[in-house]
Amino acid sequence: MTINHQIRLAARPMGLPKDSDWQRTEEPMPEPAEGQFLVKVLYLSLDPAMRGWMNDGKSYIPPVGLGEVMRAGAVGKVIASKHPKFSVGEVVVGTFGVQEYALSDGRAVNKIDPGLAPLPVWLGTLGMPGMTAYFGLLEVGEAKAGETVVVSGAAGAVGGVVGQIAKIKGCRVVGIAGGADKCRYAVEEMGFDACIDYKAEDVKTALKQHCPKGIDVYFDNVGGDILDAALTQITRGARIVICGAISQYNNTTPVKGPSNYMSLLVNRASMKGMVVFDYADRYAIAGREMAGWLVAGKLKSREDIVEGLQTFPETLLKLFKGENTGKLVLKVADDHE
Ligand code: NAP
Repeated sequence: MTINHQIRLAARPMGLPKDSDWQRTEEPMPEPAEGQFLVKVLYLSLDPAMRGWMNDGKSYIPPVGLGEVMRAGAVGKVIASKHPKFSVGEVVVGTFGVQEYALSDGRAVNKIDPGLAPLPVWLGTLGMPGMTAYFGLLEVGEAKAGETVVVSGAAGAVGGVVGQIAKIKGCRVVGIAGGADKCRYAVEEMGFDACIDYKAEDVKTALKQHCPKGIDVYFDNVGGDILDAALTQITRGARIVICGAISQYNNTTPVKGPSNYMSLLVNRASMKGMVVFDYADRYAIAGREMAGWLVAGKLKSREDIVEGLQTFPETLLKLFKGENTGKLVLKVADDHE
């Protein structure tokens, strides 16, 4: 009998998730009923949003219930099917959860072409983070050639793509990231004009130096003090994209709001939140353009791959400790098994 190893949410964490917030379970591998197919999970997407899904409260998506398999995006292979539109051997991306095998009825599942890019890229640059970068920068941020774009979380899955798309579109790009290695990566490998190491520099002073004409678009992945510093340097009509606030996700005290928000008034600027799922009907269009940039070498994709489903609890923490560069992915099984 084939076993399906799973990781379930056992408790709602206070602060950083602990090992005791998870439960490891085993079940027999399920069999598809009529209208279903069975996916063998190959790679799991580890996302900062997972921390929010563990909390009880109103959000853009319901929380994961206690005792449920943890929600996760994944790439997998169809290994059994009683579904008219999905066949054995096809590679698919969907929300299959932190487990080895998942049943699906095909809703919100997309087929991917493994020949176009390695499988982990479909969870990063050609997946949800890439779509977030694309629509957040171009539609919410309305970035235009000649403008100055600043992005925090610059060496991460979303931030790295934001900066590179902004360069493709002719913007000046300044990243903000933690540590000299990440900043070097942003400038030397992804082509950013500059990158501020927020762990070693005063962000406000450095922004003034690297953005002499001010910030036209600030793409915020981190919130907190860095958002506040960026607000002091915005131009008239600037757009601030609220994509995430990872510096606040594990707070046990209330979220720290921006004290410099009056800068929005003075500069007739706007601050707008975005949720990538709102753009789902146009992922294919964005994906084609992004794939073209990848093939042309204009866009680089980097994945940080850790192996083993059972390492999920500690691997997830890498996001909150800044230990990943590029998209954090958990490898669950080999493609050829
Ligand atoms: P990521 O940037 O690949 O990984 C997280 C990074 O956040 C870490 O590597 C770390 O980099 C940084 N970080 C962690 N704690 C921090 C702190 N206290 N202060 C400043 N930086 C900190 O993650 P991602 O998947 O690309 O997600 C980035 C952001 O986008 C997150 O806020 C996420 O929630 C958001 N997001 C939003 C949507 C949406 O639809 N709105 C969709 C996807 C993602 P350093 O070493 O540089 O600190």
